[in-house]
Amino acid sequence: MKPVTDLDVKGKRVFLRVDFNVPLDEKGEIRDDTRIRSSLPTIQHLLGRGARLIVASHMGRPKGKIDPRMSLRPTAQRLAELVPNNIVMAPAVVGEEVAGLKKKLSDGEALVLENLRYHQEEEGNDPAFAARLAEDIDIYVNDAFGSSHRAHASVVALADLVPVKAAGFLMMKEVEYLRKAVRTPVKPYVAVLGGAKVSDKIEIIESLLAKADSVLIGGAMAYTFLKAQGLGVGKSLAEDEQRDTALDILAKARDLGVSFRLPVDHLLATAADAEADTQIAEVLPFPEDLMGVDIGPKTVEAYAAVIGQAQTIFWNGPMGIFEIENFSRGTVGIARAVAGSGAVSIVGGGDSIAAVKKAGVKDRISHISTGGGASLEFIAYGTLPGIEALER
Ligand code: AMP
Repeated sequence: MKPVTDLDVKGKRVFLRVDFNVPLDEKGEIRDDTRIRSSLPTIQHLLGRGARLIVASHMGRPKGKIDPRMSLRPTAQRLAELVPNNIVMAPAVVGEEVAGLKKKLSDGEALVLENLRYHQEEEGNDPAFAARLAEDIDIYVNDAFGSSHRAHASVVALADLVPVKAAGFLMMKEVEYLRKAVRTPVKPYVAVLGGAKVSDKIEIIESLLAKADSVLIGGAMAYTFLKAQGLGVGKSLAEDEQRDTALDILAKARDLGVSFRLPVDHLLATAADAEADTQIAEVLPFPEDLMGVDIGPKTVEAYAAVIGQAQTIFWNGPMGIFEIENFSRGTVGIARAVAGSGAVSIVGGGDSIAAVKKAGVKDRISHISTGGGASLEFIAYGTLPGIEALER
């Protein structure tokens, strides 16, 4: 993968795929512009060197239809506030008017295209749509790490059409950190996995079993593993249909000598509700009318001890329903432990990143991966469709 710094871009039309899929509030205003800011180094580099930039992203899931609530216009406005250059918002993704605007660009100006997913061909990785995106383009740059696990037209088919292509700074940084964790993790390598479902994370768990020394499980996922072993977990969220997979993972961990840890105590609540009554439980089965909503203090302590010994840490997914203040202690405790360890730490996924911010330790994490799904897939497979397309 060639870095964007290797290219001569002056006067060239550069198609830059970014991930501007920022959260918007009800008024359509940007709630968090981290994703836009994350691509600023690449945008500033290109504009500063006289590129004629065409910026493209998806936003939400408009499912192939024009939906003004998912317009990229607010992101173009924010970009215009962040850089001194002239930023123009396109009325569409492709078409005559857009073609005219592309041609009118001067060196150091940018045109922000509308939401790529207004066209269903985007998600279909349609080569004809990619050819329309490629019209009048000299160079393709991908800085959308968070979208590169999807074989979509702007990520894969387009990269295959434009002969001169490179990765932006965000993409390079993500790949550099994650590759180290995949290929040459300094041991002990500890993976912390949480969140709602085992079914979403089977591939990542299996790949981690082959590489990690310890896998620490939290979140509702833990209840799928406990229940699969015949333990009563009351009303906890657990996936019964994943029983065999869960048992299989436990057996593989044993065979491979991986320390696969499940919580030893739990915060139980009558409901997933801030007002619910709670209690700490160390023994199973749980009472039928209670559910596990967070890991307990002994688990935080035990996991923190393992994390403290680590040289490499990968963390994805919250340890409980951390959106509710009373149920967030486990997740925040893990965030503090990860930040306090001397390890190279990689945190991926919106919830884990939010937890790290909430704990006030964001600056002590080695690498915050902007792409949740993409970082998981990269850890599992060692590459992504969008990266392979850049390397072809
Ligand atoms: P994921 O997207 O798979 O990482 O899951 C994140 C979601 O899992 C968050 O919204 C959490 O509230 C939820 N979650 C974590 N632990 C639990 C739990 N014990 N019971 C129910 N939901 C949980």
